[in-house]
Amino acid sequence: MKINLKKLKEENKSYVTINDSLSTLDSEEFQISKPIDFNIELSLVDNEVFIKGNFNTKVKLECGKCLNEFHHHLEGEIEGHFIEKNKMKKIISELEDEYENNGEIFEELKDDEIDLADLIREHIILELPTYPICSDNCQGVENFENYIDDGVDPRWQQLIDLTNKKNK
Ligand SMILES: [Zn+2]
Repeated sequence: MKINLKKLKEENKSYVTINDSLSTLDSEEFQISKPIDFNIELSLVDNEVFIKGNFNTKVKLECGKCLNEFHHHLEGEIEGHFIEKNKMKKIISELEDEYENNGEIFEELKDDEIDLADLIREHIILELPTYPICSDNCQGVENFENYIDDGVDPRWQQLIDLTNKKNK
C-alpha cells in the first residue's frame, strides 16, 4: 500500500485522509489474526509529509505463562514525518536515512513514495507487549507432569519432582 507523492502533487492535493484496511502484513515479529483497520491523515507541506492516524488489529501471541496461543487486541497511533531528498540534503549536510532532532524522527522520502504498510508495521511492533499474558486469570502451566515424557529441561525436572512430592 503505497502513496505516491508525485501523483498527489499533480492532483494538487495537499491533504488526504485514508480509511482502509490491510488484510495481510508480513513481519518476523508478529502475525496478525484480523485485518488491520487504519485511519490516517496525510498533509503535504513544502516538500514534507506529515502522517497522523491510528490502527487496530489482533495479533497471535504465545502466553508467557501457560504457553498457549491467544489473540491479542492491539491498537495504537501512527505517525510519520518524511522529507524529500533535496530538502533533506539542505537540512543535513551529511546524508543519512534517519535524522533525529529533539526526539523527532524524519525519514527521507524514497522515490517519492511512502509505503504505508512499512509505517504501520513499525507502529505495531512498538505496541507489542514485552511479556504477553493470555488473561488476568491465567493459571500458568497447569500440570507439570504432562511434560515429563517430553524430554524435559533438567531445571524443570527439579520443579516437577518437587511438585510431585508435594502432591503425595
Ligand atoms: Zn496464559
